[in-house]
Amino acid sequence: MKGIPYGRQNITDEDIQVVVETLKSDYLTQGPRIAEFENAFSNYVGSKYAVAVSNGTAALHLCTLALGVKEGDKVITTPITFAASANCIRYCGGEVIFSDIDPETYLLDIDKVRILLETAPKGTYKGIIPVDFAGRANNLEAYRKLADEFSLWIIEDACHAPGGSFQDTANTTQLCGNGQFAELAIFSFHPVKHIASGEGGMITTNDESLYLKLLQLRTHGIVKNNNLYTNSIQLSGGTNEYPGWYMEMQNLGFNYRLTDFQAALGSSQLIRADEGVQRRREIAINYFNAFKNEPFIKGQSGTIKGHAFHLYIIEVEDRLGLYNYLRSKNIFAQIHYIPCHLMPYYQEFGWKEGDFPHAEKYYEHCISLPMYPTLKNEEQAYVISEINIFYNDKH
Ligand SMILES: *Cc1c(COP(=O)(O)O)cnc(C)c1O
Repeated sequence: MKGIPYGRQNITDEDIQVVVETLKSDYLTQGPRIAEFENAFSNYVGSKYAVAVSNGTAALHLCTLALGVKEGDKVITTPITFAASANCIRYCGGEVIFSDIDPETYLLDIDKVRILLETAPKGTYKGIIPVDFAGRANNLEAYRKLADEFSLWIIEDACHAPGGSFQDTANTTQLCGNGQFAELAIFSFHPVKHIASGEGGMITTNDESLYLKLLQLRTHGIVKNNNLYTNSIQLSGGTNEYPGWYMEMQNLGFNYRLTDFQAALGSSQLIRADEGVQRRREIAINYFNAFKNEPFIKGQSGTIKGHAFHLYIIEVEDRLGLYNYLRSKNIFAQIHYIPCHLMPYYQEFGWKEGDFPHAEKYYEHCISLPMYPTLKNEEQAYVISEINIFYNDKH
């Protein structure tokens, strides 16, 4: 059997065709495919606005810029995430404040966040970045309530969760990134994520002024709109009119644009997004049923409503042994994640082992099993049987 990775993209002939068509069109970048992708994506998640960017990390950076994070601003996030969720705070000179996870959901523990907020003078913290880790949605309604009490903003890192949702107190389904509760949400289109565009990212929001800021910051901080110019210098040979070439750079922005052929690929992939989530849930249920009575499993991602299953995680004894055994069988399970606060870079800020017992204990035992829509049933059965063999024969 060929190698089975923990995640992989699925590129169809239709995907290839739209990319080729875009390559033959007039625009490789800054063309019509960008707005098409943005509109399709905001429709998909139910937000008012969407801004396509070059990757998920750029999306996070533009969010912290647009929210005005500055030197010394304290922002709270989870240690069990990809480092970019925290790094975006540092890009603006802010201070990353990690807080422990809930050992059941693996998400940032909102009760611990509340304690942090209540035991510091008001105004100490500026924002929270909850991560919909593994595809499980945070209860953002609860985070909004907390954030309003303490005047904080929220960036939802929904990289794992396009198509994921939670039920609010009115039992309404709230899709990840729909802009109802968080100021901003971000997504990634890296090939291991649900929707692949090579590299790529998206920011969604319902806030028009943040949306306009993001558009500007995505392209060097440049404005090209007669109504928005602020310059009063003599512009062109004594007339009061702005010449055709006129534009203003009003803020220090970046080039974080997505190309048109990436956007075309993203749009084409988006058509199959729901189908992909459905298949992920099927795979999750298979794993769940296979392991629910196994004594070597200490915990596993539940089959709960709204879970988008970017990852399927189990917690096991002898994780290193299992990881190496599976590799020898061509099964490439992965670990998500080494806690961010234990990265050498963050240890320089004083974070250390012992700071977050739940995150560290989770990390000791967690392993992400193969999970992607094109995983075949017989491949999944092989993964399950190899795990059983490892525990039953060797232990
Ligand atoms: C992938 C990922 C990112 C970063 O996205 P890139 O497109 O790789 O830059 C940020 N946060 C989380 C949780 C991710 O999984």
